[in-house]
Amino acid sequence: MDYIIAIDGPSGVGKSTIAKKLSKILKINYIDTGAMYRAIAFKLISNDIPLDNHEKIKEILKSTEFTYKANCLYMDGKKLGKEIRTDEISKGASLVSSYDYVREILVSIQRQIGMEESCVLDGRDVGTVIFPKADFKFYLTASSRERAKRRFLQSERKKGLSLEQVRESIEKRDYDDMNREASPLRKAKDAIEIDSTDKSLKETILEFLSHIRGER
Ligand code: C5P
Repeated sequence: MDYIIAIDGPSGVGKSTIAKKLSKILKINYIDTGAMYRAIAFKLISNDIPLDNHEKIKEILKSTEFTYKANCLYMDGKKLGKEIRTDEISKGASLVSSYDYVREILVSIQRQIGMEESCVLDGRDVGTVIFPKADFKFYLTASSRERAKRRFLQSERKKGLSLEQVRESIEKRDYDDMNREASPLRKAKDAIEIDSTDKSLKETILEFLSHIRGER
């Protein structure tokens, strides 16, 4: 029987790392919903389209095709990679994701792809909006200090950003994601909250698995 695992939570908490690992262990698909918001922001910025030109954004949305192959996102047939992971694109994605017409289209694509086979999806509204009846719903958290530290050690240090700048950027995105009108980031009432602040990746994965396997 097919099943759906929803993982929501704030920026930089490790949702995609956990979701990818779970998809491998459980041999199910992985869908990174945030990558689609990033992809749209990338397309707009690359084509010099201002992020407040709503008519043009609507046009772009209509003519954009998303597919997932082997757990990778393709936009208009092109595989997306590091180019959608820059700070500029993170900020752009956060902005375009606050437009309800953008969410409406992307959510309907995410539902379609998610219903094809068993899968784990990560994002901000998976358990509240995309799949409120998901079989397993998780809300992953960690302090902003810990999230900034992990992101700093992983990549931002190489870009010359300070730990404090990384933390400020994370907290700004948390604030924007939690306070926008369109599908703000919230823990679904029936989601299991997992706090990874003082846990290793392995410990966190084991905690997810114990819930999924009904050991808790
Ligand atoms: O998860 P990620 O950081 O890649 O997401 C980029 C941005 O897209 C987030 O800051 C958030 O504003 C938005 N997003 C969203 N809903 C989702 C996934 C991401 O609003 N389901």
